[in-house]
Formats: sequence, C-alpha cells, structure tokens
Amino acid sequence: MKNTENKITDDKTVIQTCCYVAGNPVKGTGEMPVFHPYDNRQVGTVALASGKDVEAAIRSALSGGQVLSRYERYEILEKTRKLLEAQKEDFARLITAESGLAIREARYETNRAHDVLMFAAMEALKDDGQIFSCDISPNGKSRKIFTIREPLPLAVAITPFNHPLNQVVHKIAPAIAAGTPVILKPSEKTPLTAIKLTETLYEAGLPPHMLSVLLGPTDEVAEPLVKDHRVSIVSFTGSVAVGKKIAETVGYKKVVLELGGNSPLIVMEDAHMDTAVKLAAEGSFRNSGQRCTAVKRILVHEKIKDGFTERFVQKAGTYTCGDPSDENTVVGTVIDDTAAAYLEEVVGKAVAEGAEVLLGGNRRGALVEPTVIDKVPRNTRMVVQESFGPLAPILTFKDIDDAVALANATDFGLSSGVVTNNMEYALRFVKELRTGTVNINEVPGYRIESSPFGGIKDSGLGIKEGVIEAIKCFSFVKTFSMPW
Ligand code: NAP
Repeated sequence: MKNTENKITDDKTVIQTCCYVAGNPVKGTGEMPVFHPYDNRQVGTVALASGKDVEAAIRSALSGGQVLSRYERYEILEKTRKLLEAQKEDFARLITAESGLAIREARYETNRAHDVLMFAAMEALKDDGQIFSCDISPNGKSRKIFTIREPLPLAVAITPFNHPLNQVVHKIAPAIAAGTPVILKPSEKTPLTAIKLTETLYEAGLPPHMLSVLLGPTDEVAEPLVKDHRVSIVSFTGSVAVGKKIAETVGYKKVVLELGGNSPLIVMEDAHMDTAVKLAAEGSFRNSGQRCTAVKRILVHEKIKDGFTERFVQKAGTYTCGDPSDENTVVGTVIDDTAAAYLEEVVGKAVAEGAEVLLGGNRRGALVEPTVIDKVPRNTRMVVQESFGPLAPILTFKDIDDAVALANATDFGLSSGVVTNNMEYALRFVKELRTGTVNINEVPGYRIESSPFGGIKDSGLGIKEGVIEAIKCFSFVKTFSMPW
C-alpha cells in the first residue's frame, strides 16, 4: 500500500515522501528506500534533493520574507506542539518503523519533543537584553549600553538517527524561537520523522523560507551546505569522526558540535543498591543503548561488586527485547545489521581478552540482546570507543581516586552519573570528573529540555545545547549605546 500521509497504518504501509525547499516539494532526481531495522521490510521512499535544490534552499532562506515577531514565533511553536500532541501515536509509530526503537521509547520521544516545543515557545517571548550604566567608574560617562539579540541569517542543522524526532526538534525549535531560518539535513537512516515534523511546522504557519529539509548524496548536499560561506552556523549532532571532519571544513562560521559519548555510571561502596541497579539498567538499555549519554561503562567499587552484579543481572533480565511494535518490548533493535554486528564483534573481542558474558550476548539481525559483561579489561575496544547499543560492561575500582582516574581515562567527556549518598564523594566527583554533566544519583543522560547540555573533549567543544543555550547559538548579541 502506498501512503502519502506520512502515517504508518499497518505493516504493509510504504510511505512515499520527499524533501522540501522552502515549502515546495522536491521532485527529486533519485529515490531512497527506508527499511524497518527489525524485519527489513520497506517502510518508506524519499525523493532526494540535488545540488540545485541546495542552492535554491539557501537563496530562499536568505531572500527572506515575513520577519516574525516574538509572538508569531511563539504561536507557531505552540501550534506545532498541539499538532504533535494530536498526532503523537502517528509520530511514535513512524519513529519505530524507521529506527527499530521500541514503541514505548518512541512514545517517550514524542513527549520530549512536546517539551522542547513548549520551552522554545516560552523562550520566544522572553527578552534577555541587558542594560549597562556607563557612569559607574571614574572613567565612565553619562551613557547607557543596551544589548539586543538578533537572528543569524541562516543555520544548517545536521542530525543523527538515534532520536529521529527529538534531535531534530532540538535544533529547529530554538532556531525558530531565535527567528533564524534553517536548512535541515536529517539522517538518511531516519528521514521520515524529520520530514513529517517539517510538514507539521508548515501546517502550523511557519513561513516556508524559514525551513527546508534536504537529503541526498553527502558530496552534493551535506558537504556543500557545511562549506557554504552564506551559512552563518552549522549545528551538528552525530559521531566524532564526522564532527571532526566538519570542524576541518566548515570555514569562517559558528559551529556547534554535539558528538559521541562513553559515559560512566560510578557506583560507590555506600550506594543505595536498588537505585544503583535501576540506574545501571535504565542507563544501559533505554533507547537500545543508542543515546549519546547512555551508560557505556559501569564502574563499581570492588567491595560491593559481587552483590551489585548479581542484582543487576536479575534486573537486566527483565528488559525484554524483540519486535519493537510489541507493547511489551522494552528494548527494540539497534539501527541496522551492521551496527549490531559491530556490537557482537566488540563483545567477542572483550571475551577473548578475559571478559565474561553474564547475560545476553546474542543477536538476530539488528536485534541485540541486553548484554551484561563482567571482568571487562580497562583497555578493550568496547570501553575505549563508543559502543552504541545495549551493552553493559562492568569494571571495578578500589577507591575514589581510582574511580575518578578510570572515569576520566577516555577521549570522551559528555556526561556521567554517580551513585552515592556521601556528600564528600559527590562534591569531589562534581569537581573532578571531566564531563559536560555530572548527575548524582541519576543516569548520565538526565536533563530537562531547556537545561544546558553538551560535552567536552571529543564529545564537543563545550558549547552547550538545550533550548535556552541553543537560542543563544542561533542568534547574536548586538550592543548599542546612547547618551543618558
Ligand atoms: P553520523 O554518522 O555522524 O551522522 C550524523 C549526520 O551527519 C547524518 O545526518 C549524516 O548523514 C551526516 N553526515 C555524514 N557525513 C557527513 C559529512 N561528511 N558532512 C556533513 N554531514 C555528514 O552519526 P549517527 O551514526 O547518525 O549518530 C550516532 C552518533 O551521534 C553517536 O556517536 C552518538 O553518540 C552521537 N550523538 C551525540 C549526541 C550529543 O548530543 N552529543 C546526541 C545524539 C547522538 P547521512 O545519514 O546521510 O550519512
């Protein structure tokens, strides 16, 4: 069955959709099929854009059109939120169909996107302008300096597959709140949700020049967009390899890089055991372990390791994996067979180096069982590089100095979680962990959608996202002064 409504109605639905240049459907020079990672059935086809469409999108955005008042930006974001709310289940089914994420995770993602839109709408109404009196020093004058925030002329947003809706809305909503036009290049693995969101924004009244969505060959679409001198900011979320490539080619423009992670959950000897076990399982297996802030290393004090491990294996066994559309499935697939095979390979390598699989370890196609691995060597590939899937490697440490050293012994620096009730420990971790976020008695990924979020080291340049910070990135501060 062909479907042009971007809606999965049954397991035979094949959505036919396309890119958009400033609201105009792109006929496309080629077509890209989209497959369900669970059973490899085709769920969609996207008509692709070409270099000519890139040029048209840039020109449309820059030639401008209606300049939106703060209230108009608020209204568009609010209306989009309401439309999303009304189509929540359609969005969730689409996310599951193209990503293989369990339907319960997909629904959770629509809730997060709802919050992003709500916070962005609220922020659109706020003015963070400042006033400085100049007569406050012997060298001062009788003047005042004021700041206003102005939109950037054009943003390019490039997003990954792992949150097909939320990663996209985390860039577009703040850009709209700032008044900045965006050209979106979503992941080719999950384009359908991004395109549906784009259509929803147009429906909510977004002037077409404010948003284009383009997919096509990397050397015709993504790379030229990154390099184009008319683009004022590239906001990228994705892998370290692509992020660093962009950093080398982006030229003289703003760049925001939100890259991979290798987050530790540190369990101290005084930890509340139920909390530790729950956070380790949620952090490792939610979203099939495909969160940049997922727990990638469980670091446990050697004194409590045996008790923790026994309870953790029991808990992990309750994370059923299988058909992502099944209401009872907790862990769906990873993005594709290649990603699953990589996970299988790093587990095998760790085992060859002395690790022991306590639970899981099997895969079928893109379905990887939640896997608990014990006695993991500190230098095995699984924990040195990012293993983007439901793997839970356990490592031990002997005291807090060792824990800090082990946690920091990675190229990544996105986030971290610590389970302790000891205030001295908590303060030391907050001060000494080299990560963008430290969450005490929470998973590394805990945040609200408007709080500052982002990593350091290979995980990012320390420029934060989150709705409020992203609005700052998509705009610039103009200063003016007047006699007073
Ligand atoms: P990816 O392979 O780096 O792809 C991300 C995006 O970059 C896709 O849209 C991709 O397009 C595009 N791209 C590929 N080559 C490019 C190039 N030469 N120039 C410009 N764009 C290019 O990442 P992924 O596998 O989709 O996502 C997983 C990664 O994202 C993980 O490492 C995860 O940790 C990270 N992530 C980080 C955060 C964070 O906030 N720090 C959040 C979520 C995910 P195509 O799909 O067309 O190749």
